[in-house]
Amino acid sequence: MIKENLDAIRKTIPEHVTLVAVSKTKPVAALQEVYDAGQRHFGENKVQEMTEKWEVLPKDIKWHLIGHLQTNKVKYIAPYVHLIHSVDSFKLLKEIDKEAKKNNRIIDCLLQFHVAQEDTKFGLDFEEAKELIENPEFIDLHNVHLVGVMGMASFTENEDVVRKEFQQLEDYFQLIKSYYFTFNDDFKEISMGMSGDYQLAIEEGSTMVRVGSSIFGTR
Ligand SMILES: *Cc1c(COP(=O)(O)O)cnc(C)c1O
Repeated sequence: MIKENLDAIRKTIPEHVTLVAVSKTKPVAALQEVYDAGQRHFGENKVQEMTEKWEVLPKDIKWHLIGHLQTNKVKYIAPYVHLIHSVDSFKLLKEIDKEAKKNNRIIDCLLQFHVAQEDTKFGLDFEEAKELIENPEFIDLHNVHLVGVMGMASFTENEDVVRKEFQQLEDYFQLIKSYYFTFNDDFKEISMGMSGDYQLAIEEGSTMVRVGSSIFGTR
């Protein structure tokens, strides 16, 4: 089933969009099956679970941390993480920089924005994102690399609401890009879209979709 699900989803995703297979709560055997079908980008939302899977699975997997990240846990993923989607404070970015440096790495990160109606979801508003980038210490962070933005839409059947939130995130991306990264081609990622809304997200400019249950089944 998993391989059929993956093939069906791949057919709906344009070449310029990266598919991140969200494997949280799923056993290593399920990830191996998806890996064997050619998938290399995997997303997890918990540090410990991701690290346990990284230890046993093939080393060419690109691991995406998509869940909230506490500063005291950065050290566990710094040796291997491919992209951190959930940067929502300067303090966290600074910690990632510190741990990346210890590992002699430069770690790619996305700024997580809050665009949903629910106030339980983490993320920055536009002013907070500007403050983060304009922090005087920002230019001293040589081991982190901001490559774009991430966000989650509201959990609702209302397509208009979801579409507007994706448009909002795309607007934020364009503004941040024009303010701070005009001449930086690496600032190019918009991580938005999950199983229920990834096609809408792609229509609204997503470059990276995070799909879990449509590949692995319900959790
Ligand atoms: C779980 C999760 C996903 C995937 O959700 P599905 O609905 O299973 O596709 C995507 N993004 C984040 C941040 C998640 O926590």
